[in-house]
Amino acid sequence: SSFEELGLPKAINDGLLAMNFKKPSKIQERALPLMLSNPPCNMIAQSQSGTGKTAAFVLTVLSRVDLSQPTQPQALLLAPSRELARQIQGVIQTIGQFCENLIVEAAIPGSISRETGVKASVVVGTPGTVIDLIKRRQFDASKLKVLVIDEADNMLDQQGLGEQCVRVKHVIPKAIQILLFSATFPEKVMRYAETFAPKANQMKL
Ligand code: AMP
Repeated sequence: SSFEELGLPKAINDGLLAMNFKKPSKIQERALPLMLSNPPCNMIAQSQSGTGKTAAFVLTVLSRVDLSQPTQPQALLLAPSRELARQIQGVIQTIGQFCENLIVEAAIPGSISRETGVKASVVVGTPGTVIDLIKRRQFDASKLKVLVIDEADNMLDQQGLGEQCVRVKHVIPKAIQILLFSATFPEKVMRYAETFAPKANQMKL
């Protein structure tokens, strides 16, 4: 299989070429057709790091963003640490390097100006900071179309982070596409994930 078959916008294919990604990895090959489908469906994907899972959800995010609304937040990606959030932001910016008007901001402590607030179509952050920004009306979450949670085993299990993820979910549109990615889904976390991302396709690599 090839990336062309997925029908991604040309700018995204150019980004894949620049990264020298020649063909989809196994998780990308299996999960992308489902994640890119319309109407969008939720996904719970178990996949080790090193399998190409980051690019799998990044490609989905990039293909869902309307670049004619460059400062309207449309995709939110949550990670358990600021380092991982920065890393994911870097992957989005690299694969999206030819997407004109693509703005990706990190919503981590100290990164968003109090005056301007979030002015990006794609936001990658840690849950506590994201909640704070939304509460202070510095982040308009009303038009989000896709929510990605990376390292979902950590995010949905730990008391603090899990609670913050639920708070985020309560202030975003009900009809959002939810993608949960994790290297492991212990039984307890999986049951929780299934209520967090209802009717999700499940995939284990
Ligand atoms: P991850 O599973 O997200 O930690 O990614 C593992 C590594 O695989 C990263 O260095 C990516 O740049 C690389 N990668 C992801 N998708 C592909 C692909 N389709 N072809 C080649 N390398 C890839």
